[in-house]
Amino acid sequence: EPDFAERIASKLGAVSTRKVVHALDGVDLAVRKGEVVGLVGESGCGKSTLGRVIAGMLPATEGEVLVNGRGRDALRGAEARAARLKTQIIFQDPMSSLNPRKRVIDIIGEAPVAHGLIKAREKRKLVEDLLETVGLDPSMSNRYPHQFSGGQRQRIGIARALAVKPEFLVCDESIAALDISIQAQVINLFMDLRETFDLTYLFISHDLGVVNHIADRVVIMYLGRVVESGSVEDIFEHPNHPYTAALLSEVPSIDKRHRTFNTIKGEIPSPVNPPSGCHFHPRCPHAFERCRIERPALRSVGSEHDSACHLNDLPERPIFNNLGN
Ligand code: SF4
Ligand code: MG
Repeated sequence: EPDFAERIASKLGAVSTRKVVHALDGVDLAVRKGEVVGLVGESGCGKSTLGRVIAGMLPATEGEVLVNGRGRDALRGAEARAARLKTQIIFQDPMSSLNPRKRVIDIIGEAPVAHGLIKAREKRKLVEDLLETVGLDPSMSNRYPHQFSGGQRQRIGIARALAVKPEFLVCDESIAALDISIQAQVINLFMDLRETFDLTYLFISHDLGVVNHIADRVVIMYLGRVVESGSVEDIFEHPNHPYTAALLSEVPSIDKRHRTFNTIKGEIPSPVNPPSGCHFHPRCPHAFERCRIERPALRSVGSEHDSACHLNDLPERPIFNNLGN
């Protein structure tokens, strides 16, 4: 549909890695133009894999990525390159994603010249403008990455992404490695850039607290499957899935945000050999017999609110409050 800048549809049955782990299992995710979708789950749930597939860095062995309703993988030549540039990914660790031997002017300015978006003589002007846009001093363009702080390096990474005029940014734990005070600044930068450049975001995070600040819609993944998705209000005020409820009960106060989910009962099972039925059943306080046998389908539980849990078939089911209890 025309109102979808990015439609990421898939029957991503499997994404092969060296071990042929089925990192994603039947994931179907749509992101509307201008929206911020938060993709949340514990490490190993497949959220980074999904981000890389969407960003065109990893092929999906099944399924496809649709951009404005068209299959991106079927595009060829100049059209394919243009489509690829429209989606950029920003990683967690700006140090390892910036070439230490290159100056900032080249880190940011090389791609737009190489792709013919600007002429070589326009490079310095573009880079200086972008440095200003991301809150850095334009006179720093001749420096190397190691001459910047972690937060500044992440701003350089953001400027590099912006240099090719993307419409859609995939942010994979893009603030997770930064100090808490710097995290807030970079979140604000992302929100400002959304307005200025009309950006759409897939914001991947293990941190529901961060996602609550930034997202319009939230998608919760567990072991390669989407278990719940809905508006940020639905997810935080009326969670349906026991896993979402468990995550919410783990959201620490803002000053202790670096805590992880490890107080949810039990370990995350291996994605190589996931549990039968509902993947969450060994850790779920509400599990019953059917959960071990049958995979729950993702179904509508409200307006644009989906959940995959057998509890929804019971005449009386527990209602979770916004503390996840
Ligand atoms: Fe828990 Fe069963 Fe729902 Fe899975 S389907 S989340 S095990 S109640
Ligand atoms: Mg990850």
